[in-house]
Amino acid sequence: MKTKVEASETMSDLRTHAAEIAEQFSDHLDVDADDVEERLQNLVDEYRVPVDEARRSVVNSYLDEADLERDELGRGGNDEVHLADIDQDEQWVDITAKVVELWEPRSESISQVGLLGDESGRMKFVSFTTSELPELEEGAVYRLGNVVTDEYQGNFSVKLNRTTSIEELDEEIEVGDDSTTVEGALVDIQSGSGLIKRCPEEGCTRVLQNGRCNEHGNVEGEFDLRIKGVLDDGDNVHEVIFGREMTEELTGISLEEAQEMAMDALDTTVVVDEMRTDLVGMYYRVSGPELGRYVLADETDRLNEPADAEAVLIKARSI
Ligand SMILES: [Zn+2]
Repeated sequence: MKTKVEASETMSDLRTHAAEIAEQFSDHLDVDADDVEERLQNLVDEYRVPVDEARRSVVNSYLDEADLERDELGRGGNDEVHLADIDQDEQWVDITAKVVELWEPRSESISQVGLLGDESGRMKFVSFTTSELPELEEGAVYRLGNVVTDEYQGNFSVKLNRTTSIEELDEEIEVGDDSTTVEGALVDIQSGSGLIKRCPEEGCTRVLQNGRCNEHGNVEGEFDLRIKGVLDDGDNVHEVIFGREMTEELTGISLEEAQEMAMDALDTTVVVDEMRTDLVGMYYRVSGPELGRYVLADETDRLNEPADAEAVLIKARSI
């Protein structure tokens, strides 16, 4: 015999299941939570089917209706992804992340907003009041199942929702600093810049020294362009690496042109010499991931004005 309390718990349980199922299918079918609940209730009450089984059965019938495979649905079988790998809108994913920062929600509809971080980087998250989720604590690490990615003007975030599972983990995450911004005068271009040759062995790409790869010995290298630069912001110097694309953009010299220059002069160093003339003394703002002591330039802006008066002195010194 069921007591009244048990019966009502089962009912609210069914309602929760129904809401989750409706949410899971919301992108695929016009599913009403009340209808789902009725179907669940029917199985549980009339046929004495355990709740889990009833749920599976109802989900299966909706899968058939929507002509979907189970793994195409949000819940279950999600990819566990790193934050830095999120590059698509409306993907259902699982993440393990630390709550780096909580911000003040600007609207009543938002219960929590802030920054999550994992080894790969940081990302904004939002949790809505209607989802009635437990609150996340700053500094704690969670496994978040079934969150949805969102994109706004090229910036990605994750949304927690009613179906999101939250499990606090007793572990620490070293949050990766995926991007940093430095600015200042370019005071030096280091050796190993300009037209370089890289090892062609698969997965190697080491820069050759006198035609030799540290790992693979003498090899027929492949030409590439890069600049290892030093930015001085007045207080600190930052070492910055500009890859081929960024180097071409900054200098206006393409890889092909650089090869021609080197061939005409019978000397590859003419390329870096020309780059030095063009760039040293100019002001740049550079953003990108930090790798060891280097910032790998993803984005570079040439600044017309020095960042501050102090910087003018540095420029004067550097010319
Ligand atoms: Zn090599």
